[in-house]
Amino acid sequence: MNYKSTRDSAVSVTAAEAITRGLSAEGGLFVPEQLPKLTATDWEQLRTQSYVERAVTVLSRFLTDFTAKEVKDCASSAYTVEHFGSTDTAPLYSLKNDTHILELWHGPTCAFKDMALQILPHLMRVSSQKTADGKEIVILVATSGDTGKAALEGFRDAPHTRIVVFYPENGVSPMQKLQMTTQEGANVGVCAINGNFDDAQTGVKTIFTDRAVAEKMAQQGQMLSSANSINWGRLVPQIVYYISAYCDLVRDGKIRQGDPINVVVPTGNFGNILAAYYARCMGMPVGRLICASNCNNVLSDFIATGTYDRNRAFHTTASPSMDILISSNLERLLYHLSGEDTALVGKMMKELQANGTYTVPSSLLASLQDLFTAGWCDDASTLKEIRTTFEEENYLCDTHTAVAKCVYRRYREQTGDTTPTVIASTANPYKFSASVLNALGGERADQDEFEKVETLHNLTGCPIPASLLSLKNKTQRFTKVCEKAEMEKAVFEFLK
Ligand SMILES: *Cc1c(COP(=O)(O)O)cnc(C)c1O
Repeated sequence: MNYKSTRDSAVSVTAAEAITRGLSAEGGLFVPEQLPKLTATDWEQLRTQSYVERAVTVLSRFLTDFTAKEVKDCASSAYTVEHFGSTDTAPLYSLKNDTHILELWHGPTCAFKDMALQILPHLMRVSSQKTADGKEIVILVATSGDTGKAALEGFRDAPHTRIVVFYPENGVSPMQKLQMTTQEGANVGVCAINGNFDDAQTGVKTIFTDRAVAEKMAQQGQMLSSANSINWGRLVPQIVYYISAYCDLVRDGKIRQGDPINVVVPTGNFGNILAAYYARCMGMPVGRLICASNCNNVLSDFIATGTYDRNRAFHTTASPSMDILISSNLERLLYHLSGEDTALVGKMMKELQANGTYTVPSSLLASLQDLFTAGWCDDASTLKEIRTTFEEENYLCDTHTAVAKCVYRRYREQTGDTTPTVIASTANPYKFSASVLNALGGERADQDEFEKVETLHNLTGCPIPASLLSLKNKTQRFTKVCEKAEMEKAVFEFLK
């Protein structure tokens, strides 16, 4: 199976090429040319499989140029007990009313990004052996907080690979910043920028599509790639956990095979919810896909009206990993829902770049609304949701998960839809201790980050991840801050 570009129907590359390149040369994203379907027999087998086996089953349908052994090696090196704490890589925690929390943060950096970024370096290694003719791969990452750390941890000291991460200086939580500035490894670089996440992402995309940069890299024996969710190798592992969650629900007698579920996803760059869409395309029975935003609510406006408009104030919120106004992966959904109309997608993306806005045709809006519902909530509601969830269900969730839970609760009240529902939980609460503590009424201004962690632990009894506690004694290696316009320079300085 080959991959096409969302902006040029003539492009056709293998999975390995799509993964090593990250982005198509004309700026489009790689998309599978068919969406493989799971049969009744597949579902029956999946049900009794381990997470690694489920990953192999799903990934092998998309990575047809990988051998069975290659896929198996990648999955079993990534989803280990050492990295995820148990063989239950993505466990479900059931709340009241057929609502199930899919905990995606048991990996080394305590955010759902680990689900993809623990396996991406392995997929990249196999892919580059097939395509990159011995070139060193330089991974560029723009992060709103969690991708950066997860990518650094995944790629640290990976052979023939370097990684450079850009994050917004004032747009990440103290714990997220500390995780990145203390990163170990000989092949890693981290730089803050004076700007927000969209600036970082735009800067990285500009470097990617700059011919002169590509030539200079080639002369140095290097090539660029991406670990952001624009890379197909990031998205495909995310399909696995939705299918795995569905299988767990059937296995545990919570639903019967064939019953639809709703899926609620706290959304930023639209990667995670798009993976749920792909799971549905593969045959997972889905009622509604519910897209939850914070007050950077560009996506909920889009899903309600068909007009995407990023010309609005950018808000820094308690859920910083969702502080995004340009959701890159929406482009893939538009491609699929428009019947693979590359001309239309290219035109809308040009409009977005030039004017910050575009409107989809009414037929496309209809198919979007056929499946997706959207909602948003502000910080006050987010914190309130953390408190009531803790009080009523004795479950502590982070700010991003709380956004999803709040949007879902309102959806359920408004519609009366009682379909069993999976809420994607995207981070461990200790990554955002100040906000979570604030929600529970325990925040004190005089406490430093680790004192807050301690207080939160005493208040809730919720276990503190060792990887976060260990940051306390690490040295800060990366303190550089650059201007938006200096990102390219920073990359080449790092590569020297
Ligand atoms: C990245 C992230 C999100 C947003 O996910 P997208 O795939 O970008 O939509 C939500 N929550 C957390 C904690 C994240 O790190």
